[in-house]
Amino acid sequence: MSRDPALPPGPPAPLPGARRRVALVSLGCPKNQVDGELILGRLQAEGAEIVDDPAQADTLVVNTCAFIDRAREESVGALLDAAAWKGAARGRHVIAAGCLVQRHGGELAAEMPELDALVGLDEVTTADRKILGLPALRAVPAGAATGLFTAADPRVRLGPAYSAFVKIAEGCDQNCAFCAIPNFRGRQRSRPVADVAAELRQLAREGVVEANLVAQDSTGYGRDLGLRDGLANLVRAIDAMDEAPPWVRVHYLYPGRISRGLVEALAGARRIVPYVDLPLQHADPVVLKKMNRPGNPDVYLRQLADLRAALPGAGVRSSFIVGFPGETDAQFEALCAFVGEAGFDSVGVFAYSHEEGTTAFGHEDDVPPELKEERRAALEEIAHAAAHARNLARVGLTLDVLVEGPAEDRPGLLAARWKGQAPEVDGRVLIERAPAGEAVAAPLPAPGRAPGLAPAPGTLARATIVDAEPLELLARLAG
Ligand code: SF4
Repeated sequence: MSRDPALPPGPPAPLPGARRRVALVSLGCPKNQVDGELILGRLQAEGAEIVDDPAQADTLVVNTCAFIDRAREESVGALLDAAAWKGAARGRHVIAAGCLVQRHGGELAAEMPELDALVGLDEVTTADRKILGLPALRAVPAGAATGLFTAADPRVRLGPAYSAFVKIAEGCDQNCAFCAIPNFRGRQRSRPVADVAAELRQLAREGVVEANLVAQDSTGYGRDLGLRDGLANLVRAIDAMDEAPPWVRVHYLYPGRISRGLVEALAGARRIVPYVDLPLQHADPVVLKKMNRPGNPDVYLRQLADLRAALPGAGVRSSFIVGFPGETDAQFEALCAFVGEAGFDSVGVFAYSHEEGTTAFGHEDDVPPELKEERRAALEEIAHAAAHARNLARVGLTLDVLVEGPAEDRPGLLAARWKGQAPEVDGRVLIERAPAGEAVAAPLPAPGRAPGLAPAPGTLARATIVDAEPLELLARLAG
């Protein structure tokens, strides 16, 4: 990519030691978001100013994703945009960070001379060394990541002030045939219980009301530390804390690893919200075997029934892949039947992406893209119908909700989530706002609301469900 020789005047190139202004573009999953927060935290600790608007920045960090083909395309597009941003004014720097750098750093460095530095996954807590020095460093990370951050590493949190993602472990020890993540995120490394607790305590002090615990495979938490039933231990430890966010949600349970102890710990914990996030990926036994995943539809239905019995009324989410190599019409129909029967509240459906370095890459990617898309849309429709039925069954219930603010796409309604809806991936509760000048129905506990005004973002409230859409609940504030 060539640069415009007649550049408009931009911010002057900072002298070494001058205060740099850094903006971040965050792509990919919550785990990547945490990495972005650590990069910004380290840069701020070393004197950089963090700004939201790239137009105000002299350094733009693009935190990339490399999970599947679409994510890679989006990341490359963002890097090209950043290169164009760099070329539009003098003194600008572009930094590539994240999974794409760890996975394809060499190619990126060779093909994008505009990149001033490439920050690998193990460099998020020392990102200043590559980014703030001049010239920046274009060394490329090699192999899979091995590092792990701690609660003491500085952080600039992204997203709303009342909600946070807490990464309890890095990497993954599973061998799902379709997944390349362990190749670059590395093997599982769990944070000690005390370190996770220290982060949660700090978040509570900052006013965070909702902490979402994330990892690649949360049920594997602690095995590398020699803990037996590590996630159950962590859940109990969090519940015993005297200072922690009031809502703690556990994500990414791996089927076949959900112990009785974990189910009991989740059921008995007052801080852990009733939420089951169980990515199953498929339900046909033959496809599951080829995917190198445990279980079968009967086992999954039993596991779901156990979890629902332990966590009555829980929000239940899963995700599935359609179009895996060799997936027949009958196998896809078996998956559809399972999703209809299991009745999830929320489902992510993804078309299979043929990833180099995975076991599945050895098979022929023989389901045509149009058929993958057709299957994806059909399964999503079935999942939405099942979710609608579950939402309708909640009409009349009064639920705790976390208010997020005016619903941009639904004028006059407030967006909120109940405990069974995670940020970004699940549906919402849409709450009627009071007519102008009229107080909302019921007084709410401070903080967050002045008399006669709708509750502020981050307020916990009670709302009665009055109607349901496939993905959203309609509600009124309750006393
Ligand atoms: S559990 Fe499977 S899909 Fe998830 S990160 Fe690990 S290998 Fe990938």
